[in-house]
Amino acid sequence: MTETERLLKTSKPYLTVLTDKKNGALNHCYLILSDDDIARRTLCRMAAKVALCPHGGCDNCEVCEKINDGAYVALRINESEKISVDDVTELIEDSYFTGFDGDKKVYVISNLQGMNEKAQNKFLKTLEEPPEDVVFILGASQQTAVLATILSRCKKLYFEGFTAAQIYSVLIDDTEESDDETMRMATRASVCGFGNLTRAEKLYNDSAFVEKFSLLVSVIRDLSSTKKLDEQLSKLKIDKSNLDGYLDITETVFRLMLASKRGAVEKGFEELDGLSGEYDYPTLVNILELILKCKRMSESNCNPQSIADALFIGILEVKYLCRK
Ligand SMILES: [Zn+2]
Repeated sequence: MTETERLLKTSKPYLTVLTDKKNGALNHCYLILSDDDIARRTLCRMAAKVALCPHGGCDNCEVCEKINDGAYVALRINESEKISVDDVTELIEDSYFTGFDGDKKVYVISNLQGMNEKAQNKFLKTLEEPPEDVVFILGASQQTAVLATILSRCKKLYFEGFTAAQIYSVLIDDTEESDDETMRMATRASVCGFGNLTRAEKLYNDSAFVEKFSLLVSVIRDLSSTKKLDEQLSKLKIDKSNLDGYLDITETVFRLMLASKRGAVEKGFEELDGLSGEYDYPTLVNILELILKCKRMSESNCNPQSIADALFIGILEVKYLCRK
């Protein structure tokens, strides 16, 4: 069992499916909601094992062994990012006509947000009249990406995210080195992930993460006028590939400043010393709202450079408006 699986065994979605299984009351369709790709994918697979294993996912029996080897006929897993109408047609035919071992057949689709509306409508018909003994375990990054008609036929299970300490334990578990620099990276990435392991792992695996963090802090420290802004932003070389990481780091920096106002100082973030003195409480709260707005702009694929401009000009404005 991986560290991620071990942690997810205490999560609400997992425990709900397990309880249903133990009560002999498995739903015919579950929808696991989380914007954390790793958590969602892992939870979908774990829930499938619970549904299929006679002992609720023991990891020891013949069924579990076959599942672990990817050789269990009654388990179909689709983890593609895009799912077309043709894929759905194939799935429906398979669910009605293909024989299987065991007493149940489970279909996992972990990226329902990647199924377009037409395909979702086709899939809906199967959910309305599900084949006997078939369980669908669906995953989606967000509820708004799923048709309301599908939502109403699923048992919805929300994964609320990991704690920073849990993320740290996953990052360190996957790492062989245990030098100071590695630990420092893991500490920072686990805080910057905001409960999202996929985001934290991306930062952790970026060899320039610590450097980016320091660079961003120095840009924030030197923010004084819009005239200087272009020059400072050019240091960050913001583009589509690194924007989300920078937004996560910026949010972390301001959240840590807010926490230090309340007397809670996180270890391992020395560059921030003294920085929060420049901002009062309302300024920090307003800046955090601004960062969330920029994150939404990024989700809607706005131009990365415009988002960066909006963010830093916004920070300057808030600083100016809230000045004492
Ligand atoms: Zn088992």
